[in-house]
Amino acid sequence: MPHPTTPAAGHDDDYAWPTCSTPTCGRPLWTNESDRRACHPCEDKTRQRLTELPSLFTQLNTTAQHMRGTRRTSSTLSGSKTPPLPLRADVLNLTGPGGIAHRLQTIEDAWRAHLGRRIGTWAGNPTQAVPVHVQFLVINLQRAVDTYDSVGQDIDDIRRLHTETVAAVTGEHRPGRIQIGPCPIPYADGTLCGYPLTASTARHRIQCPGCGTRWEGIDDWRTLRAAQNAAQPAGAAA
Ligand SMILES: [Zn+2]
Ligand SMILES: [Zn+2]
Repeated sequence: MPHPTTPAAGHDDDYAWPTCSTPTCGRPLWTNESDRRACHPCEDKTRQRLTELPSLFTQLNTTAQHMRGTRRTSSTLSGSKTPPLPLRADVLNLTGPGGIAHRLQTIEDAWRAHLGRRIGTWAGNPTQAVPVHVQFLVINLQRAVDTYDSVGQDIDDIRRLHTETVAAVTGEHRPGRIQIGPCPIPYADGTLCGYPLTASTARHRIQCPGCGTRWEGIDDWRTLRAAQNAAQPAGAAA
């Protein structure tokens, strides 16, 4: 047997099978995926989430306009029977300057830098910008997954952004509801649902709007807590 000429070649025990770089995924890559930075399910889910974002943003933006509009004109609409929409920080944060458009642009800029593309100075408002950023990210997703080392972090950021937006659109952050952590139920492919669950003091049932799982009563709630603890090891990023 010839002696290995490189130090690394002598350390077969240290060889780690390549895994998906998405922090919340980490599944081993198949041999036909081994030159990728993230797995196919992560890519497919990310494409789907990106595709859904423009219409979610439009819904959220309409809500935000009503909040702002109601506040501005409430004194002049003395005859109006419509109560003002309560101002919700989650809606305003996502539609405002540091919101969805900004977070998508941050990812787009990083991908542009990696792909050697010019980084544009986009001057449009968020309503114009969101579909433009989404289009770029969808078109370049596969190349990013194939070649960009930090793509896993961006896949997670897009997942979080999508989850926050869906929660804001469906009004899951209403006052009176308590955040009780992410849904621990795995989908068929092994990825966790992760939808931010809420409980109401007035009801004994928790239902996940993401995957539809229900927990009813104290025994179910204990099961849920145990599953969350098992799914979310101490120190893991939320
Ligand atoms: Zn993955
Ligand atoms: Zn769920």
